[in-house]
Amino acid sequence: MIIAMKPEASEEQIQEVCEQIKKYGYHPHLIRGEERVVIGAVGSGDNKDHLHNLIAVPGVENVVPILQPYKLVNRQLKQEKTTIRVGDLEIGGDRLVVMAGPCSVETREQLMETAIAVKAAGAHILRGGAYKPRTSPYDFQGLEEEGLKLLAEARDKTGLKVVTEVVTTEDTELVAKYADILQVGARNMQNFALLKRLGKINKPVLLKRGMSSTIKELLLSAEYIASHGNHQVMLCERGIRTFETATRNTLDISAVPLLQELSHLPVIVDPSHATGKRSLVSPLAKASIAAGADGLIIEVHPRPQEAWSDGPQSLTLPAFAELMQTIKPYVELESRRLN
Ligand code: PEP
Ligand code: MN
Repeated sequence: MIIAMKPEASEEQIQEVCEQIKKYGYHPHLIRGEERVVIGAVGSGDNKDHLHNLIAVPGVENVVPILQPYKLVNRQLKQEKTTIRVGDLEIGGDRLVVMAGPCSVETREQLMETAIAVKAAGAHILRGGAYKPRTSPYDFQGLEEEGLKLLAEARDKTGLKVVTEVVTTEDTELVAKYADILQVGARNMQNFALLKRLGKINKPVLLKRGMSSTIKELLLSAEYIASHGNHQVMLCERGIRTFETATRNTLDISAVPLLQELSHLPVIVDPSHATGKRSLVSPLAKASIAAGADGLIIEVHPRPQEAWSDGPQSLTLPAFAELMQTIKPYVELESRRLN
Protein backbone atom coordinates (compact mmCIF):
# COMPACT_ATOMS: atom_id res chain seq x y z
CA MET A 1 0.00 0.00 0.00
CA ILE A 2 1.24 3.52 -0.75
CA ILE A 3 0.33 6.35 1.56
CA ALA A 4 0.94 9.69 -0.14
CA MET A 5 1.24 12.56 2.33
CA LYS A 6 0.06 16.07 1.51
CA PRO A 7 2.89 18.41 0.49
CA GLU A 8 2.31 20.45 3.65
CA ALA A 9 2.16 17.41 6.01
CA SER A 10 4.14 17.93 9.20
CA GLU A 11 6.87 15.65 10.53
CA GLU A 12 4.56 14.66 13.41
CA GLN A 13 1.83 13.63 10.98
CA ILE A 14 4.33 11.55 9.03
CA GLN A 15 5.50 9.82 12.21
CA GLU A 16 1.90 9.23 13.26
CA VAL A 17 1.20 7.41 9.98
CA CYS A 18 4.37 5.30 10.44
CA GLU A 19 3.24 4.32 13.95
CA GLN A 20 -0.18 3.30 12.67
CA ILE A 21 1.39 1.23 9.90
CA LYS A 22 3.52 -0.62 12.47
CA LYS A 23 0.46 -1.23 14.64
CA TYR A 24 -1.23 -2.96 11.72
CA GLY A 25 1.76 -5.29 11.32
CA TYR A 26 3.44 -3.66 8.31
CA HIS A 27 6.80 -1.91 7.88
CA PRO A 28 6.72 1.78 6.97
CA HIS A 29 9.18 2.73 4.25
CA LEU A 30 9.66 6.48 3.83
CA ILE A 31 10.52 8.09 0.54
CA ARG A 32 11.21 11.78 0.75
CA GLY A 33 10.57 13.27 -2.68
CA GLU A 34 11.11 16.88 -3.67
CA GLU A 35 7.47 17.76 -3.22
CA ARG A 36 6.05 15.29 -0.74
CA VAL A 37 6.70 12.26 1.43
CA VAL A 38 5.37 8.93 0.28
CA ILE A 39 5.17 6.05 2.73
CA GLY A 40 5.14 2.44 1.59
CA ALA A 41 3.46 -0.01 3.95
CA VAL A 42 5.15 -3.31 3.13
CA GLY A 43 5.16 -6.75 4.65
CA SER A 44 2.68 -9.48 5.27
CA GLY A 45 0.34 -7.81 7.75
CA ASP A 46 -3.26 -8.98 7.46
CA ASN A 47 -5.00 -5.69 8.00
CA LYS A 48 -5.21 -4.22 4.51
CA ASP A 49 -8.57 -2.64 5.36
CA HIS A 50 -7.00 -0.82 8.28
CA LEU A 51 -4.43 0.65 5.92
CA HIS A 52 -7.27 2.09 3.85
CA ASN A 53 -8.47 3.83 7.01
CA LEU A 54 -5.26 5.86 7.08
CA ILE A 55 -6.97 8.17 4.58
CA ALA A 56 -8.64 9.71 7.65
CA VAL A 57 -5.34 10.54 9.39
CA PRO A 58 -4.43 14.26 9.18
CA GLY A 59 -1.79 14.98 6.57
CA VAL A 60 -2.65 11.96 4.39
CA GLU A 61 -3.66 12.78 0.85
CA ASN A 62 -4.21 9.35 -0.66
CA VAL A 63 -3.92 5.61 0.01
CA VAL A 64 -3.32 3.42 -3.05
CA PRO A 65 -2.65 -0.31 -3.22
CA ILE A 66 0.39 -1.65 -5.09
CA LEU A 67 -1.05 -4.57 -6.98
CA GLN A 68 2.25 -6.20 -8.00
CA PRO A 69 3.98 -8.47 -5.45
CA TYR A 70 7.16 -6.36 -5.60
CA LYS A 71 6.64 -3.21 -3.60
CA LEU A 72 9.86 -1.44 -2.60
CA VAL A 73 11.36 -1.63 -6.08
CA ASN A 74 8.06 -0.68 -7.71
CA ARG A 75 7.94 2.52 -9.71
CA GLN A 76 4.47 3.13 -8.28
CA LEU A 77 6.07 3.58 -4.88
CA LYS A 78 8.74 5.93 -6.17
CA GLN A 79 8.32 7.88 -9.41
CA GLU A 80 11.82 9.33 -9.27
CA LYS A 81 14.51 7.06 -10.67
CA THR A 82 16.93 5.71 -8.10
CA THR A 83 20.53 6.77 -8.43
CA ILE A 84 23.27 4.76 -6.80
CA ARG A 85 26.46 6.39 -5.60
CA VAL A 86 29.74 4.57 -5.89
CA GLY A 87 32.22 7.08 -4.51
CA ASP A 88 32.14 10.02 -6.91
CA LEU A 89 30.29 8.03 -9.57
CA GLU A 90 26.52 8.09 -9.91
CA ILE A 91 24.67 5.21 -11.56
CA GLY A 92 21.17 5.82 -12.90
CA GLY A 93 21.70 9.54 -13.54
CA ASP A 94 22.42 11.22 -16.86
CA ARG A 95 25.79 9.52 -17.28
CA LEU A 96 25.85 6.23 -19.18
CA VAL A 97 28.04 4.08 -16.95
CA VAL A 98 30.39 1.63 -18.61
CA MET A 99 31.79 -1.38 -16.79
CA ALA A 100 34.47 -3.30 -18.66
CA GLY A 101 37.07 -5.95 -18.05
CA PRO A 102 37.81 -9.63 -18.35
CA CYS A 103 35.35 -12.41 -17.62
CA SER A 104 37.85 -13.86 -15.10
CA VAL A 105 40.75 -12.34 -13.26
CA GLU A 106 43.60 -14.54 -14.50
CA THR A 107 46.97 -12.92 -13.76
CA ARG A 108 48.24 -9.56 -12.51
CA GLU A 109 49.58 -8.75 -15.99
CA GLN A 110 46.30 -9.61 -17.72
CA LEU A 111 44.22 -7.58 -15.27
CA MET A 112 46.48 -4.50 -15.14
CA GLU A 113 46.86 -4.39 -18.91
CA THR A 114 43.09 -4.55 -19.31
CA ALA A 115 42.35 -2.08 -16.52
CA ILE A 116 44.74 0.55 -17.89
CA ALA A 117 43.37 0.16 -21.41
CA VAL A 118 39.67 0.30 -20.49
CA LYS A 119 40.30 3.30 -18.27
CA ALA A 120 42.09 5.08 -21.13
CA ALA A 121 39.16 4.25 -23.42
CA GLY A 122 36.71 5.88 -20.99
CA ALA A 123 35.27 3.05 -18.86
CA HIS A 124 34.20 3.91 -15.30
CA ILE A 125 34.17 0.54 -13.59
CA LEU A 126 36.41 -2.52 -13.89
CA ARG A 127 34.71 -5.90 -14.05
CA GLY A 128 36.40 -9.24 -13.43
CA GLY A 129 35.36 -12.49 -11.80
CA ALA A 130 37.39 -13.87 -8.90
CA TYR A 131 34.73 -16.47 -8.08
CA LYS A 132 33.41 -18.06 -11.25
CA PRO A 133 30.15 -20.01 -11.41
CA ARG A 134 31.13 -22.39 -14.23
CA THR A 135 28.79 -24.83 -15.94
CA SER A 136 31.47 -27.54 -15.81
CA PRO A 137 33.24 -28.38 -12.54
CA TYR A 138 36.42 -28.98 -14.59
CA ASP A 139 36.53 -25.39 -15.85
CA PHE A 140 38.56 -22.62 -14.16
CA GLN A 141 36.75 -21.60 -10.98
CA GLY A 142 38.53 -18.31 -10.30
CA LEU A 143 41.49 -17.05 -8.24
CA GLU A 144 39.21 -16.33 -5.26
CA GLU A 145 40.73 -13.95 -2.67
CA GLU A 146 43.90 -13.59 -4.71
CA GLY A 147 41.71 -12.30 -7.57
CA LEU A 148 39.95 -9.85 -5.25
CA LYS A 149 43.33 -8.48 -4.17
CA LEU A 150 44.35 -8.00 -7.78
CA LEU A 151 41.09 -6.14 -8.48
CA ALA A 152 41.76 -3.84 -5.51
CA GLU A 153 45.28 -3.27 -6.81
CA ALA A 154 43.92 -2.37 -10.26
CA ARG A 155 41.50 0.07 -8.61
CA ASP A 156 44.37 1.75 -6.77
CA LYS A 157 46.36 1.98 -9.97
CA THR A 158 43.62 3.32 -12.26
CA GLY A 159 40.94 4.91 -10.09
CA LEU A 160 38.33 2.63 -11.65
CA LYS A 161 35.64 1.24 -9.34
CA VAL A 162 35.39 -2.53 -9.11
CA VAL A 163 32.44 -4.86 -9.73
CA THR A 164 32.89 -8.56 -9.06
CA GLU A 165 30.67 -11.58 -8.51
CA VAL A 166 29.83 -13.17 -5.19
CA VAL A 167 28.82 -16.79 -5.60
CA THR A 168 28.18 -18.06 -2.09
CA THR A 169 26.66 -16.63 1.07
CA GLU A 170 29.80 -17.34 3.08
CA ASP A 171 31.99 -15.22 0.77
CA THR A 172 29.74 -12.15 0.92
CA GLU A 173 31.65 -10.16 3.52
CA LEU A 174 35.00 -11.04 2.00
CA VAL A 175 33.92 -9.91 -1.48
CA ALA A 176 32.34 -6.77 0.03
CA LYS A 177 35.67 -5.94 1.67
CA TYR A 178 37.35 -5.58 -1.73
CA ALA A 179 34.57 -4.72 -4.20
CA ASP A 180 32.68 -1.47 -4.80
CA ILE A 181 29.73 -3.31 -6.35
CA LEU A 182 28.78 -6.95 -5.76
CA GLN A 183 27.46 -8.87 -8.73
CA VAL A 184 24.87 -11.62 -8.43
CA GLY A 185 25.26 -13.90 -11.44
CA ALA A 186 22.42 -15.19 -13.59
CA ARG A 187 22.75 -18.64 -12.03
CA ASN A 188 22.26 -17.19 -8.57
CA MET A 189 19.40 -14.80 -9.22
CA GLN A 190 17.09 -16.95 -7.14
CA ASN A 191 19.60 -17.94 -4.47
CA PHE A 192 17.40 -16.43 -1.81
CA ALA A 193 19.86 -17.01 1.03
CA LEU A 194 22.46 -15.02 -0.92
CA LEU A 195 19.96 -12.27 -1.73
CA LYS A 196 19.01 -11.95 1.94
CA ARG A 197 22.66 -11.72 2.95
CA LEU A 198 23.22 -9.00 0.33
CA GLY A 199 20.31 -7.16 1.91
CA LYS A 200 22.45 -6.78 5.00
CA ILE A 201 25.49 -5.18 3.42
CA ASN A 202 26.02 -1.54 2.67
CA LYS A 203 27.35 -1.87 -0.90
CA PRO A 204 25.55 -1.64 -4.25
CA VAL A 205 24.46 -4.88 -5.90
CA LEU A 206 24.35 -5.65 -9.63
CA LEU A 207 21.60 -8.25 -9.95
CA LYS A 208 21.74 -10.20 -13.20
CA ARG A 209 18.60 -11.69 -14.69
CA GLY A 210 18.49 -15.48 -14.53
CA MET A 211 18.75 -17.07 -17.94
CA SER A 212 15.23 -18.50 -17.65
CA SER A 213 13.71 -15.89 -15.41
CA THR A 214 10.80 -13.61 -16.06
CA ILE A 215 10.84 -9.87 -15.47
CA LYS A 216 8.58 -10.40 -12.46
CA GLU A 217 10.98 -12.95 -10.95
CA LEU A 218 13.89 -10.55 -11.48
CA LEU A 219 12.00 -7.77 -9.72
CA LEU A 220 11.06 -10.09 -6.86
CA SER A 221 14.72 -11.01 -6.43
CA ALA A 222 15.55 -7.30 -6.25
CA GLU A 223 12.75 -6.99 -3.69
CA TYR A 224 14.46 -9.66 -1.56
CA ILE A 225 17.58 -7.51 -1.33
CA ALA A 226 15.66 -4.28 -0.73
CA SER A 227 13.31 -5.77 1.85
CA HIS A 228 16.31 -6.97 3.85
CA GLY A 229 17.64 -3.45 4.05
CA ASN A 230 19.80 -2.77 1.00
CA HIS A 231 18.15 -0.46 -1.52
CA GLN A 232 21.22 0.01 -3.68
CA VAL A 233 20.27 -2.48 -6.37
CA MET A 234 20.75 -2.28 -10.13
CA LEU A 235 19.13 -4.70 -12.54
CA CYS A 236 21.02 -6.34 -15.38
CA GLU A 237 19.56 -7.77 -18.56
CA ARG A 238 22.10 -10.32 -19.87
CA GLY A 239 20.07 -12.35 -22.33
CA ILE A 240 17.64 -15.18 -21.77
CA ARG A 241 17.35 -18.74 -23.08
CA THR A 242 15.14 -19.13 -26.11
CA PHE A 243 14.86 -21.73 -28.90
CA GLU A 244 17.54 -19.80 -30.81
CA THR A 245 20.97 -21.44 -30.73
CA ALA A 246 22.85 -19.11 -33.10
CA THR A 247 23.59 -16.85 -30.16
CA ARG A 248 24.47 -17.91 -26.62
CA ASN A 249 21.34 -16.19 -25.29
CA THR A 250 18.74 -13.82 -26.71
CA LEU A 251 19.01 -10.22 -25.57
CA ASP A 252 15.59 -9.14 -24.35
CA ILE A 253 15.86 -5.52 -25.38
CA SER A 254 12.26 -4.85 -24.37
CA ALA A 255 13.26 -5.66 -20.80
CA VAL A 256 15.15 -2.36 -20.63
CA PRO A 257 12.26 0.11 -21.02
CA LEU A 258 9.86 -2.32 -19.37
CA LEU A 259 11.98 -2.66 -16.23
CA GLN A 260 12.20 1.11 -16.10
CA GLU A 261 8.44 1.38 -16.37
CA LEU A 262 7.90 -1.14 -13.60
CA SER A 263 10.77 -0.18 -11.32
CA HIS A 264 12.76 2.89 -10.27
CA LEU A 265 16.04 0.93 -10.19
CA PRO A 266 18.83 1.53 -12.74
CA VAL A 267 19.03 -0.94 -15.63
CA ILE A 268 22.34 -2.19 -17.00
CA VAL A 269 22.79 -4.32 -20.14
CA ASP A 270 25.42 -7.02 -20.68
CA PRO A 271 25.68 -7.49 -24.45
CA SER A 272 28.61 -9.92 -24.01
CA HIS A 273 26.80 -12.73 -22.22
CA ALA A 274 23.63 -11.88 -24.12
CA THR A 275 25.17 -12.99 -27.40
CA GLY A 276 28.37 -14.93 -26.76
CA LYS A 277 29.71 -13.39 -29.97
CA ARG A 278 32.26 -10.60 -30.17
CA SER A 279 30.87 -9.20 -33.43
CA LEU A 280 27.44 -8.59 -31.87
CA VAL A 281 28.59 -6.70 -28.79
CA SER A 282 28.89 -3.26 -30.37
CA PRO A 283 25.55 -3.33 -32.26
CA LEU A 284 23.72 -4.50 -29.15
CA ALA A 285 25.47 -1.92 -26.99
CA LYS A 286 24.08 0.75 -29.32
CA ALA A 287 20.60 -0.82 -29.21
CA SER A 288 20.74 -0.93 -25.41
CA ILE A 289 21.61 2.75 -25.16
CA ALA A 290 18.80 3.61 -27.59
CA ALA A 291 16.41 1.54 -25.45
CA GLY A 292 17.34 3.68 -22.44
CA ALA A 293 19.88 1.56 -20.54
CA ASP A 294 21.63 3.30 -17.64
CA GLY A 295 24.84 1.40 -18.23
CA LEU A 296 26.69 -1.38 -19.99
CA ILE A 297 28.87 -4.21 -18.75
CA ILE A 298 31.26 -5.54 -21.37
CA GLU A 299 33.89 -8.29 -21.39
CA VAL A 300 37.32 -7.22 -22.62
CA HIS A 301 40.55 -9.22 -22.79
CA PRO A 302 44.01 -8.30 -24.15
CA ARG A 303 44.23 -11.67 -25.93
CA PRO A 304 40.74 -13.18 -26.16
CA GLN A 305 42.07 -16.31 -27.86
CA GLU A 306 43.99 -17.07 -24.66
CA ALA A 307 41.19 -16.17 -22.21
CA TRP A 308 40.49 -18.69 -19.44
CA SER A 309 36.77 -18.06 -19.86
CA ASP A 310 34.42 -16.42 -22.38
CA GLY A 311 37.10 -15.62 -25.00
CA PRO A 312 34.68 -15.74 -27.98
CA GLN A 313 32.61 -12.87 -26.62
CA SER A 314 35.47 -10.78 -25.25
CA LEU A 315 36.49 -7.63 -27.12
CA THR A 316 40.16 -6.91 -27.72
CA LEU A 317 41.52 -3.72 -26.16
CA PRO A 318 41.40 -1.75 -29.46
CA ALA A 319 37.90 -3.08 -30.21
CA PHE A 320 36.71 -1.81 -26.83
CA ALA A 321 38.27 1.61 -27.47
CA GLU A 322 36.48 1.67 -30.82
CA LEU A 323 33.18 0.73 -29.19
CA MET A 324 33.52 3.67 -26.81
CA GLN A 325 33.80 5.97 -29.83
CA THR A 326 30.99 4.24 -31.74
CA ILE A 327 28.47 4.63 -28.93
CA LYS A 328 29.08 8.37 -28.46
CA PRO A 329 26.36 9.66 -30.83
CA TYR A 330 23.86 7.20 -29.35
CA VAL A 331 24.68 8.41 -25.86
CA GLU A 332 24.16 12.02 -26.94
CA LEU A 333 20.92 11.22 -28.72
CA GLU A 334 19.60 9.92 -25.42
CA SER A 335 20.67 13.18 -23.72
CA ARG A 336 23.25 11.32 -21.70
CA ARG A 337 26.95 11.72 -21.30
CA LEU A 338 29.90 9.40 -20.93
CA ASN A 339 32.10 11.51 -18.68
C1 PEP B 1 29.88 -12.99 -15.79
O1 PEP B 1 29.51 -11.80 -15.69
O2 PEP B 1 31.04 -13.32 -16.02
C2 PEP B 1 28.84 -14.03 -15.73
C3 PEP B 1 29.12 -15.25 -15.31
O3 PEP B 1 27.62 -13.60 -16.13
P1 PEP B 1 26.19 -14.30 -16.05
O4 PEP B 1 25.95 -14.58 -14.61
O5 PEP B 1 25.28 -13.28 -16.63
O6 PEP B 1 26.25 -15.55 -16.88
MN1 MN C 1 31.82 -14.20 -18.53
